[in-house]
Amino acid sequence: MAYREDLYKKVILDHNKNPRNYREIADATHQCDGANPLCGDEVTVALTVGDGVVTDIAFTGHGCAISKASGSMMTEAVMGKTVEEAHALFHRFHALVTGEEEGGDLGKLAVFTGVRSYPSRIKCATIAWHAMQCALAKEERVSTE
Ligand code: ZN
Repeated sequence: MAYREDLYKKVILDHNKNPRNYREIADATHQCDGANPLCGDEVTVALTVGDGVVTDIAFTGHGCAISKASGSMMTEAVMGKTVEEAHALFHRFHALVTGEEEGGDLGKLAVFTGVRSYPSRIKCATIAWHAMQCALAKEERVSTE
């Protein structure tokens, strides 16, 4: 347990300091702004989708370390996946942070089981994922409220 907590902090800090795919996409086919007013997290997720495959995904915004790290790891996880696989990942990640799934083959994303001990942070961990789902649904804005 202590090991897992330690790994969680290490991974969150690394992705917060050096977020992957933290940029804009000029010719994005899908984009959505996500807001988590409870914490003040604002995340914009943009994707380029061609033939049902996510060929590019990136995010911008500001917020707490968890929301930023989650955005970073979400973009890494979804890059190159089909839209169907991206939806499936969203549902599995959501189940993971809410305690309905153990993580198993979710790889690095399994560190987010760490937020289960802090229910108020679950929205921080999922806002970028909600924004990704929202963008794929061709909607423009999603909020956790
Ligand atoms: Zn937050």
